[in-house]
Amino acid sequence: MTIKEKDFDRRRLLPSVDKVLRHSGLLIQKWGRIRVTDCLRNELTRIRALPINDFRQEVTLDEIIKIVENRLLMSDESSFRRIINLSGIVLHTNLGRALLPKKAIEAVVSVASCPTNLEYDLKSGGRGERDHHVEQLICELTGVEAATVVNNNAAALLLVLNTLADQKEVPVSRGELVEIGGAFRIPDIMIRSGCKLVEIGTTNRTHLCDYESTINHRTALLLKVHTCNFRVEGFTAAVEENKLSVLAKQNGIPLVVDLGSGNLIDMDKLGLPREPIVSKAVTDGADIITFSGDKLLGGPQCGIISGRRDLINRIRKNPLKRALRPDKMIYAALAEVLKLYRNPCELEKELPTIRFLKRSVVEIEAQAKRLVPQLSAVLPDDYSVSADICNSQIGSGALPVENIPSYGLIVSAVNDARLIQLLNAFRKLPCPVVGRLSKGKLILDIRCMELETQFSTQLSELADLLK
Ligand SMILES: *Cc1c(COP(=O)(O)O)cnc(C)c1O
Repeated sequence: MTIKEKDFDRRRLLPSVDKVLRHSGLLIQKWGRIRVTDCLRNELTRIRALPINDFRQEVTLDEIIKIVENRLLMSDESSFRRIINLSGIVLHTNLGRALLPKKAIEAVVSVASCPTNLEYDLKSGGRGERDHHVEQLICELTGVEAATVVNNNAAALLLVLNTLADQKEVPVSRGELVEIGGAFRIPDIMIRSGCKLVEIGTTNRTHLCDYESTINHRTALLLKVHTCNFRVEGFTAAVEENKLSVLAKQNGIPLVVDLGSGNLIDMDKLGLPREPIVSKAVTDGADIITFSGDKLLGGPQCGIISGRRDLINRIRKNPLKRALRPDKMIYAALAEVLKLYRNPCELEKELPTIRFLKRSVVEIEAQAKRLVPQLSAVLPDDYSVSADICNSQIGSGALPVENIPSYGLIVSAVNDARLIQLLNAFRKLPCPVVGRLSKGKLILDIRCMELETQFSTQLSELADLLK
C-alpha cells in the first residue's frame, strides 16, 4: 500500500457529519443545530488536514463529539481575562483604569438586574433626568451649581466646545495642545467639535497679554487644559485660572478648564502627589470644569462636566448629549464612588485607587520579599530574582513625572531573549501577569498585587512555559 492510499484509508475512518449530528442531541439543544454543524465541519476539516503521522488511531464518534463540545465551550468563554497588574502603573488605561469599590459594584449589579428609576420621577410619574442621580453629590463635593455626565472626558470636552463654541474661536496656549495618549489629541477634538482653534503664546511661555490680544467678537470662550502628562521645566510661564477668569468675565465669555484627572480632595493630605482640585478651579472662577471619572477619582469610565447652571442647561440640550450619555450602570457606580468622598478619612480603606496609592512601602516590601523564594524556586537557573526598590506611577496621564516609591520583584536573565521569554510566559499564565521591562530587567511592581494566592499558585506553570 502506498502512503497515499494509507492516508486515504485513515481519513475515511472519520465519521460523517450526518452521523455525528444524529448523536449530538445534547450539543444541539445547548448550542443550536447551526453552530454545532459549523463547528463540526470545521473540526472535521482540521482533522483531515492533519499530517498522516497524527492519525495514530481511528477518531471515534464519541471523541469527535467531545472535541466539538470543547471547542464550543471555549468559544463561549469571555474574551475578558483577570490580570494581575504588576506594571507599577496604578491607573493603567489598557488594563481598564480604576477598580470600583465594593459598594459601586453592588450598585451596578442592582441596576443591571431590574428596572430602575433611571429617568423616571417617582413623585410625579413623569420623565426624570438621569443626571439627578449624581448631580447633587458633584455640587456638594466641588461647589459647582450644576453638573452633567458623558462617556469620558474626551466626550466632555467635545460636548462643551460644540455647545459653547461651534463656528467660533477658542484661543488655547501652545503649551497646552497636548496629546493625551491613544492618539487622542486636544487639537483634533477641538476641530471635531466645530470650533476654530486659535493657537497663542509659545510651547514654553504664554502670557495674559497673549489671550488679551487674541480675544475678539468671534471668541466663544477661553480654554485652559491641564497638561497632566508632561512637565515643561526651565524658562516657562502659563496664566493661572484666577487671572484668566477675570479676563473672561471682562469680555463676557466663559472660562472652560479641562482638568483631565480631576481630583476632589487635597492629595497632599493623603501624602500623595498634588493634582489640581476641582473646587479650587471653581473658586478661581472657572465657569465649566471637565474631568474623568476613572482617573484619580477612582470611579467608572465617564466624563464629568460641572459648572454654571445656565451653561450646563445649554450643554444638556445639545442633541450630541444624547449620543454621549452613559449607561445606568455608570451613574449607579459613580454615585457610590462620589459618596465615599464625603468621608475622605475612609477613602483609603474603601476606594481601591487610593488604597493602592497609599500602600506603605514597608508592607509592599514584605510582600515582595515573601514572593522572592517562591518565584526563584520555579525559574530555571539562568534567571535570578531579588526584591528591590522601584517606582510606581499613578498612570492615566496623572503626573508621570511624579514617582511613588514602591517595591518589586526584579528578575534578570542571561540575555535579553530569555528575559522577553519570561515576560511572555507571565502573560500566558491562567491569570496573566503584566510587568514591565526596565534597564534589561523585568520588574514586577508589587504595589497593586491583590490576588497574591492566585499569583503564587500558578507560578509552577512558568517552568514549562520557559522550556
Ligand atoms: C485624560 C485626559 C483627557 C481624556 O479623558 P478620558 O476620560 O480618557 O477621555 C482629556 N483631557 C485631559 C487633560 C486629560 O488628562
